[in-house]
Amino acid sequence: MRNVSQIVNGKRKIIKKPELLAPAGNLEKLKTAIMYGADAVFVGGKEFSLRSQASNFSIEDIKEGVIFAKKYGAHIHVTCNIILHQDNLKGIEEYLQTLDDIGVTAIIVADPYIMKIAKDMDLNLEVHVSTQLSTLNLKAIEFYQKMGMDRVVLGREVTYEDLKTIMEYAPVDVEYFIHGAMCIHYSGRCMLSNYLSRRDANRGGCSQSCRWYYDLYDDGNLVNQEDDMPFSMSSKDMSLIDHIGELIELGVDSFKIEGRMKSLHYIATVVSTYRKLIDTYCEDPDHFIQDESYRQELLKAANRALCHGFFYEHPGVEEQLFNMRDEHPTQEFVMRILDYDQEKHLAKIEQRNYFKVGDQIEIFSPHHPNLFFTVEKLYNEDKEAVEVANHPMEILYVEINENVLANDMGRKVIR
Ligand code: SF4
Repeated sequence: MRNVSQIVNGKRKIIKKPELLAPAGNLEKLKTAIMYGADAVFVGGKEFSLRSQASNFSIEDIKEGVIFAKKYGAHIHVTCNIILHQDNLKGIEEYLQTLDDIGVTAIIVADPYIMKIAKDMDLNLEVHVSTQLSTLNLKAIEFYQKMGMDRVVLGREVTYEDLKTIMEYAPVDVEYFIHGAMCIHYSGRCMLSNYLSRRDANRGGCSQSCRWYYDLYDDGNLVNQEDDMPFSMSSKDMSLIDHIGELIELGVDSFKIEGRMKSLHYIATVVSTYRKLIDTYCEDPDHFIQDESYRQELLKAANRALCHGFFYEHPGVEEQLFNMRDEHPTQEFVMRILDYDQEKHLAKIEQRNYFKVGDQIEIFSPHHPNLFFTVEKLYNEDKEAVEVANHPMEILYVEINENVLANDMGRKVIR
């Protein structure tokens, strides 16, 4: 097992903290992920990347992201994990050279040709093997190491028992999914979307066909005809919030959060929750208490019910959402703080969802504990009193008696 800790003044401390790697679908999310505690962010460029709908980073955007990340000591990884068709080959060398020139730390690749040329070009870019290749064993990792790869992103299907073996001998860095959506097929090996909507999951176009509603037949008879609950093949989302300590002790190099399509609120909530947990654990691992608060925090932004994915073994019936038993967030993102006047106790905010006078709001932040207040005084941009905030992105002022900070976020507590 890798040595991850040492005794400092009689107390064991973790000296090898894992990287916390977050997703971002645009620059605002990238900056938020870093401000809320991500060590690195992965983004998709407009070219050579899966998740085409989430890949809205131009080269200029990536450059701005790299400059912002550097101020925080963070890193930017760019997905180049398209499976190349013959007509995709043109321009790949120039693209990789540009990413290298602007200071991107790593590219995430799936196609052997991109792996080869990225190494042949002798760039500073690290080359990470994408989860699209479903790497599940040590021998495969050794194969990629011989090809010069710097890191392997494991498939979500690796159990904790297999991970223990992998971490004992892995010759390169290992990245492991800790949070996010799951496919009902092996990641990247699904043709449902191609077949049902002609959208190629391996070219970033997955239409999430597994989560659609289906008629279910048993021996020719429609089973769910009278049922209010339609049948779907959707999986619960994965969360390893209860196992972060075990994964840190194994020496996993990077903890990956999935979801470049997810909202700003989701990214801020998930990143800050794992950040706090990782830091608390590493400071004093032998006295760490895994209380429920971390899970409760995640549930405030969860889109679906959570499960442990493949951590223990292959997921069973309980890990699926056959009847779309979705759980919705217990709180709704309603405001982002832009500024705070300490003398007037007035926060300038950007409205994100409907709220009104009388609603209870929870403010969360990377810099202070969560705090609650009830909206009593609300003003529009002309400082006229209003009762409701119902225009997305409208600038408003709200009275908050406790100090808040720019970039804190507010959620409406749903009772
Ligand atoms: S259809 Fe579902 S299982 Fe298939 S790739 Fe898309 S999300 Fe994954």
